[in-house]
This record gives sequence, C-alpha cells and structure tokens, in this order.
Amino acid sequence: MGFSKHNIFSKISGSENFFILNILTGNADILTPHEWKLLNDLKEGTSVDPEFEKSLIDNGYLISEQEENSLYRSKYLDFIDSRDKDEIQVFFVPNYSCNFACTYCYQDEYANPGQVLTKEVIDAFFQYIIKEFAGRKKYITVFGGEPLLNSIHQKELIAYLLYQANTFNLDVCFVTNGFSIEEYLEILTKARIREIQITLDGIGEVHDKRRFLKGGGPTFSKIVKGIDACLANNLPVNLRMVADRENIGGLPDLAKFAIEKGWTANPLFKTQLGRNYELHHCQASPDKLFSRVALYEAISKLTKEFPHILEFYKPAYSVSKFLSENGSLPDPLFDGCPACKTEWAFDFTGQIFPCTATVGKANESLGTFYPEVSVQGDRVDEWESRDVTAIEGCKDCNLQLACGGGCGSVAKNRTGQICSTDCRPVRELLEIGFGAYLNS
Ligand code: SF4
Ligand code: SF4
Repeated sequence: MGFSKHNIFSKISGSENFFILNILTGNADILTPHEWKLLNDLKEGTSVDPEFEKSLIDNGYLISEQEENSLYRSKYLDFIDSRDKDEIQVFFVPNYSCNFACTYCYQDEYANPGQVLTKEVIDAFFQYIIKEFAGRKKYITVFGGEPLLNSIHQKELIAYLLYQANTFNLDVCFVTNGFSIEEYLEILTKARIREIQITLDGIGEVHDKRRFLKGGGPTFSKIVKGIDACLANNLPVNLRMVADRENIGGLPDLAKFAIEKGWTANPLFKTQLGRNYELHHCQASPDKLFSRVALYEAISKLTKEFPHILEFYKPAYSVSKFLSENGSLPDPLFDGCPACKTEWAFDFTGQIFPCTATVGKANESLGTFYPEVSVQGDRVDEWESRDVTAIEGCKDCNLQLACGGGCGSVAKNRTGQICSTDCRPVRELLEIGFGAYLNS
C-alpha cells in the first residue's frame, strides 16, 4: 500500500487549509493544517496516525500498485469507449478572409490562395463527412476568417451550406465576429442552428480598440444589435471574450452590460473567456499576454471585488467548478486534445486538417476531400494516438488525469512532436478554484 500516483495536493489559496484529490479513484477532500501535518508525517515515514491512515485508504489516496494499475486500465477503456460514441465536431472554413483587422489575429498571416468556395466544394464536403463519419453523431461548426461576410455571393454560399446541412439533419454552429448577423438573420433562422459564437472584448472603446473594421471603424454597437437579434429570434448565443492584460480590467463592465441587457437571464445565452495567446506566430505585443495561471489569478481577484462577474462567467479552475456544482469529480481525462478523434477541420480549398488550431496552416494538411479524396493515414494515426498514455513526458505525471496532455498543436509548435507535452497548471488552478468555490 502506498500513496497513489494520481494524488494532487496543495494549499488552498487564501485559506489555512489544504486539499487532496484523486481523479482516478474519484475522491477530493479538504485537509486542516493538522491533517496536512499527519499526511506529511505519513509520507515521510516519521509517524503514523492509524485512524488518519485508514481514512486515506478508504478514500483511495493510499492504494496498492496492483489495484491502482487495474483501475487505471479499466477507466482508460471506459474513456476510449465513451469517446468513440461522442459527437464529432466538424469545422468548415468557407474563407480565411475577414472584414475585421483585430490586433491579435493569429490568422492574419494566412495566405489566401486564389481559390474560392463553390457549391461543388460544399457538395464534396458533405459527401466526405457523410461517408467517412457514417454512424457517428456529428455537427458542423462554420469558422473563418469571417464566415458571415455581407455580400450577396457569400450569403448564397452560406445559404447553400445550410440547405445541405438541413438535408442531412445536421446542426450547425457559427463562429463569427458578429458584425453582419442582422443581415444573415433570414438565412440563419431557416437552419438548425445550435449556437452562434460571437466575440466582444469589452464594452465600447475597450472592444473597438481591439476589434475594428479593416480600414478602421468601430464594431461594438452593431455586434450588440446582432446579439439582441439572435436572442429575439431564438438563436442561441455563446459570447466569447478574448482576454489579455490590455482588456481584462473591462470584464466587470462587460458583465454588468450583459446583465443589464437581460442576456445572462436568457437560457439561450452563455459565455466563455478565451486567453489571448501566441499560437503560431508572435503577436504585436507579447508583453500584453497572460500565462494561464496569471489570467485566472486576475479573474479570481476581479470576481472577489466584483462578484456580479460570476453571473456572467464562472471560471472552471481545472475541475474545481465541476466538483463544487456536482459534488463529485469528472471522469479521468486521458486526452485533452480532440484532434482527429472528435474534431476535424475542412476548408474551402478542399484540404483536411486535424482541428481549428491547425486549419489553414501550411504543412498541417492531412490530405484533401476535393477535387479528389486523398488522406495521409500515417499522419492521421499519429494525431489519433495522442493521449497521456502515448506521451512519454506524461506517463509519470500526477496531474495527467486532469490535464489530459494539453493541446497537440501547441505541443508540436514547441517541440516539433505531436506526441509531446503541453502542460496545464492544474495544481495552481485548483489552489485558486478550491479557494473560490470549495473552502466552505
Ligand atoms: S491540437 Fe489543440 S486546438 Fe487542436 S484539437 Fe487539439 S487541443 Fe484543440
Ligand atoms: S502535459 Fe504536462 S502537466 Fe499535462 S499530463 Fe503531461 S506532463 Fe503532466
């Protein structure tokens, strides 16, 4: 009997208490300073409190190696099983061009080849996904560039794409800057729209300084009208804020704005907060960027000062939010990267990519669905095989079942290898999260 390889423990931020949790055995506890001392005494072999030791055994923190290995294998098989039944998110990029010139766009260096989207490409896309993902649940997410460009030609193509999605009974999501939503309402309301993701980086000038039209011009007010129009027409909205040091101070105002608009009270409305980070090339001002921990520390500080933010956005802090809302831990995450498993991306040039982060990136293509179908199986296999059991650096990591090995694209950018680590600051996020949600 020894300490499980999957125990995660640390001090709770802003408290004298500590936490211990184990995603493999499914237990989490808060430890008083006295219990923390007992735990450390036991770890170091200096003294043993039999009652405390028994509680650690009962809660799966002390376990035999054999029992732990067999539990690990069985949970891994459950994970693979459930992933095989998961819905596939199929991204489709109709163009990489955009009517905005956001200060931080990672696609701004993508070349726009002299090709354009045609109905033949859309037909080939549907033929491919219906055949290749037969028997799997799936939905389409239309992504860009900006997919909802306000031109007659683009509207015709998007209407055709949605007509085909209706024909195959597929739900569709859009990721859009939201500028031309009103112009697309008639088309969108005829389709099975699951969600429209729209980005606001703050209110008024805070947003307009970062997300402006090409050639200049504010966008905030028109996007707000678009969000109102979506909600009035029963189109679900997922509002995304992309945060860095420049605009995080505007989060309380954006939250207040959304609350006063009545958005947060609408069941069709939800939010997410994305970290502005360097994906494929350097930003204009990298000093503006937050590390993952620094971002969540800043959010935690802001939510203490402005608790109304939680009505607008409740950070996950690794598994902390899940634990506080469900009273139990999520299933072990053996793989945090859905690329080539439950996520694929296709673009208007006929290319196939592993996911949104890689779509359109020269040398990440896995093959083509148009003009002919040709896929590099060995590259797909490499993406498919990536999980914490395949990444050498993850094998002995106690955080693996909360981290899942991170993002394959970020890992590859860093090391050149898909099967390498993209470490998530799980322990630090849990320290913040236990302090925010679980210390009572
Ligand atoms: S490579 Fe990164 S962005 Fe792409 S699916 Fe994996 S985790 Fe997501
Ligand atoms: S990516 Fe890093 S933190 Fe995540 S499981 Fe692997 S070694 Fe651990």
